[in-house]
Amino acid sequence: MEYSERLKKLPVQFFATLVEKVSRAIAEGRDIINLGQGNPDQPTPSHIVKALQTAAENPDTHKYSPFRGMPELKNAAASFYKKQYGVDVDPLTEVAILFGTKAGLVELPMCLLNEGDLMLLPDPGYPDYLSGAALSNTKYQTFPLKAQNDFLPDYNAIPEEYTEAAKLMYLNYPNNPTGATANRAFFEETVAFAKKHNIAVLHDFAYGAIGFDGKKPVSFLEAEGAKEVGVEMYTLSKTYNMAGWRIGFAIGNPVIIESLNLIQDHLYVSLFPAVQKAAVTALTGNQQCVEDSVLLYEQRRNTFIKACRRIGWQVEAPAGSFFAWLPVPDGFTSEAFADYLLEEADVAVAAGKGFGKYGEGYVRVGLLVDEERLIEAVNRIGKLNLFQS
Ligand code: PLP
Repeated sequence: MEYSERLKKLPVQFFATLVEKVSRAIAEGRDIINLGQGNPDQPTPSHIVKALQTAAENPDTHKYSPFRGMPELKNAAASFYKKQYGVDVDPLTEVAILFGTKAGLVELPMCLLNEGDLMLLPDPGYPDYLSGAALSNTKYQTFPLKAQNDFLPDYNAIPEEYTEAAKLMYLNYPNNPTGATANRAFFEETVAFAKKHNIAVLHDFAYGAIGFDGKKPVSFLEAEGAKEVGVEMYTLSKTYNMAGWRIGFAIGNPVIIESLNLIQDHLYVSLFPAVQKAAVTALTGNQQCVEDSVLLYEQRRNTFIKACRRIGWQVEAPAGSFFAWLPVPDGFTSEAFADYLLEEADVAVAAGKGFGKYGEGYVRVGLLVDEERLIEAVNRIGKLNLFQS
């Protein structure tokens, strides 16, 4: 028995390799501080858990959900966007419920592209964007996100042969892995670029709630004309610590939304109804839990960055997301450095190379352990005397 060519083209699951290394070290009895992954460490707020429990006790939720999701969840997503970003959304035609946004990200090229078509992806970027290209038998080209450009793409530097051929582009701000954020002017420039070259845009807004220093992240849909060219994907995984619940949605251009609905008609009936009910509670309920969560990440960021600078590690503070993107000291590749920290300091970080060619020279740290453990991690790294303090 052989796998299909499609499956053979799938990139190696980068996080699976990391998890394996960390699990091996833990099995050896070592006290590993795991800063390598992107799994929120806080529990889902209790009012959302209670909504799930109540819904699960109602036998109606044991049946198939309506195809394409519950209307009340689409309404909740539309009013959430109106309230949070001032964007008008038609819940019927402009919202698609997703089995986690990862599913939507991977499905989208299958929805919009034909075999051999080209998509544009950020480098560094979330590794699963590559899976969508592999499974749809399409091609991709990357565009660099460079520190000197605040990790935003320079559209003028993307070669014409790519802008002319590309049909779809992915963007993600607040950004994983760099922690960079984007403003409305950038999204307006993106709309103009997309219109000029006839490229559909997917904006991945996974960290849409997590902006620091009082700056709330901007939605792509806030840009004039955004709905004409693209959609945004919003997950409940990070905003409400619901990563295990697998729920998110796409919002925006009706043709793209219909394409996602169409493919999902054939993949899922829809999601577990009780999870959808709880998601309504999350989106329409009190948002204090989100504010608390952002504050927590901000405090961790401040503590961590200060501790790094104290040991002489010259690092920049991220503006959003719960990641810090740190330069690797001279003499190491990102992978060698990540391996060295795991072996010598029992600290796991993600090697930048896993996010693309332009991720080389960096490691990504998730601010997903408490402040005490973050300080302990930096102290352990400090003892390796890699930096001049
Ligand atoms: N997009 C980015 C940038 C992410 O970091 C993640 C998860 O880590 C996802 C999408 C996937 O989120 P979900 O849990 O909705 O599948």
